[in-house]
Amino acid sequence: MIDGKGRTIDYMRISITDRCNLRCRYCMPKDIQRMAPEEILTYEEIEEVCRQAAALGISKLKVTGGEPLIRKGCVSLMGKLKQIPGICQVTLTTNGILLEQSIEELCSAGVDGINISLDTLDRETFRRITGADKLGQVLDGIKASVCHGVNTKINVVLQEGVNAGEWDGLLAMSQEWPVDVRFIEMMPIGGGEECRGISNQYLLKMIMDKYGRLARDAEGHGNGPAVYYRLPGFLGSIGFISAVHEKFCTACNRIRMTADGEIKPCLCYGGGGSVKRALREGDKMEVRRILGQAIKGKPEGHCFERKQDMTEARKMVQIGG
Ligand code: SAM
Ligand code: SF4
Repeated sequence: MIDGKGRTIDYMRISITDRCNLRCRYCMPKDIQRMAPEEILTYEEIEEVCRQAAALGISKLKVTGGEPLIRKGCVSLMGKLKQIPGICQVTLTTNGILLEQSIEELCSAGVDGINISLDTLDRETFRRITGADKLGQVLDGIKASVCHGVNTKINVVLQEGVNAGEWDGLLAMSQEWPVDVRFIEMMPIGGGEECRGISNQYLLKMIMDKYGRLARDAEGHGNGPAVYYRLPGFLGSIGFISAVHEKFCTACNRIRMTADGEIKPCLCYGGGGSVKRALREGDKMEVRRILGQAIKGKPEGHCFERKQDMTEARKMVQIGG
């Protein structure tokens, strides 16, 4: 479907839970209030929303959280989403902790790609960022994904004074393995406003200082606003998601749905409408109308640079990234 600003919206991120087995400071502040279980959409309800979204031209779905793999039945939901007419791609974003044990089932379900979040290769820094001593499990998850031939991307958020110095080691993962490593700028959402991110322009300069000029990688890499480069001899590409320092909203192709059925046309703003009541009243056409209205009314761009204009009160763990 074309939104009110002429953009084609064909991608929806679906958060299936606001719970997580990690506590990344920039995503999940300590005082966070959890959604009540009855507020969370059932898998049947999520499937129905996706059917209605597909009828409006959404063809690509991302399952996210919180941590999606902690919700029982996540993988079989993904298999069902793949069967919806019009849906051609279903991918997952995960912290990787439960990935190794889920990978075979994910492959059988037909997963089209897995994004794994990893900010550090140092065990103590991992514990500091996430609150848990589980780096080894994440690395095992990445290996499992690669070894099963899944299109794998690593998402990295760098923070000054925490892990910014690790960019080179993290980048090297795409030298060793056929994975894309993507640097996401810290967004002022969740606990993000209290953390000091680094700009991707600055990071790109540091990479070029070390490796020389990078070649832009024009090959399609998926749905996002990431800009990709290739380094000679590397098996994967390097991606930059410059959410704050480069406004990519003119190319935005997505809407989001939270685990309790709120539709989010843009990360910065609340009030996109909820499909929960319509779902629970069995009014499928109303679900479609709410989705269509959210797409039509999608704002022109985010307002991270004018924090006073942000109306989104949810934290990133409640939105899904
Ligand atoms: N638990 C899964 C994971 O960690 O990949 C999925 C949900 S998580 C909210 C999705 C992505 O959002 C992660 O890659 C995470 O690093 C990113 N994220 C969370 N808070 C952020 C923030 N304030 N700024 C930028 N990225 C953020
Ligand atoms: Fe959990 Fe992912 Fe947020 Fe970390 S980034 S707290 S793993 S939802």
